[in-house]
Amino acid sequence: MRIWAVANQKGGVGKTTSVVALGGLLAESGKRVLVVDLDPHGSLTSWFGYDPDTIAHSVYDLFQHQGKVPDGLPAQLITETSCPGLSLLPASTALATLERRMVGVEGMGLIISRALAQLWDDFDYVLLDNTPSLGVLMVNALAAAQHLVIPVQTEFLAIKGLERMLHTLTMIMRSQKNQLSYTIVPTLFDRRTQASVKSLNQLRKTHTDTLWRFAIPVDTKFRDASQAGVTPSALDAGTHGVRAYVRLLSDLQEMTGTVAERRHA
Ligand code: ADP
Ligand code: MG
Repeated sequence: MRIWAVANQKGGVGKTTSVVALGGLLAESGKRVLVVDLDPHGSLTSWFGYDPDTIAHSVYDLFQHQGKVPDGLPAQLITETSCPGLSLLPASTALATLERRMVGVEGMGLIISRALAQLWDDFDYVLLDNTPSLGVLMVNALAAAQHLVIPVQTEFLAIKGLERMLHTLTMIMRSQKNQLSYTIVPTLFDRRTQASVKSLNQLRKTHTDTLWRFAIPVDTKFRDASQAGVTPSALDAGTHGVRAYVRLLSDLQEMTGTVAERRHA
């Protein structure tokens, strides 16, 4: 099982869109994929037509057992989506109360790891969508993941946010002893604007080794897709946005060793 987290402490940078696009493409290629919504806003959950305000069971249920994960519970919380091969562990807005309630509970940072350990044989890929704030949910995601994807909007303020994120990441990794590899992915790139072009150049200078070699372009099809609840990949394989995610996916697979592993199997 490959576990990738998609995170950035800034909102609106394409995290949820990346989870949907990468998850959709993986499922289309025949992989068994689970996407997990760790954002109390529940955008990923809404994308697939569920209402995070009223949903009966969600990832929240995992945090109700004093830091333990009862046998069989994770599987019960998973729902199918309109996309074959793609399953969802939804969020509910109740997740917003977790911070306060989980203080001092032993094992609270390892709930997602433990839940996924129970699903090890059921999925090939798990993608964790994250909330922009650094708290118990993000700590859980970073502890569970093997690779982190950091979408960064190509504009100057977003790059400032990136430095903060990387600083936090280093601190968490030190405390968790989880040597997480990461890839910075420039998003919402618009080649016609100075801000996009200049900030991409700046990223290339400062993050040579960890920056993805391409960028995800602005593609209005994504905005339409989030409203219709379809995965971008099912939309139109020819759009430049989807083509960029196809490239990103194959680079990530290469980088995280999936391809090599399959060759040796
Ligand atoms: P986050 O999860 O980081 O908050 P989202 O994935 O929800 O960000 O994206 C924020 C908004 O930008 C959404 O309305 C989404 O549809 C739109 N969006 C994301 N990626 C693109 C893109 N490549 N081109 C155009 N719109 C995009
Ligand atoms: Mg989001």
